[in-house]
Amino acid sequence: MVIEYMGDILRAEVAMRKELLYKAKNRPAYMFRIYGERVIDATRSGSPARYINHSCSPNCVAEVVTFERGHKIIISAARRIERGEELCYDYKLTPVADQSKIPCHCGAANCRKWIN
Ligand SMILES: [Zn+2]
Repeated sequence: MVIEYMGDILRAEVAMRKELLYKAKNRPAYMFRIYGERVIDATRSGSPARYINHSCSPNCVAEVVTFERGHKIIISAARRIERGEELCYDYKLTPVADQSKIPCHCGAANCRKWIN
């Protein structure tokens, strides 16, 4: 285990409203979707895990773990990580239509060009 992705657990519709609110205030939003209906909002009360970037060739994995009737997101090492190496995991975002695709700049040889 490297770190837990912490934050406020919200229903998906509440998270969508909050994301629009953050956008209106020009604040970056840090959110992690858990199995469709729940989202962890790390924007205001999250752990440093919210700063971990996406990579198509990651050194970590994000796993949703059931814990006392709730869920936790655990970031774990997928291989040996060298000192000073940037942590990254595959965001595994749902593919979307062309106009809202987010380009990937991970630099991996197997980069998929898009995060979503
Ligand atoms: Zn990539």
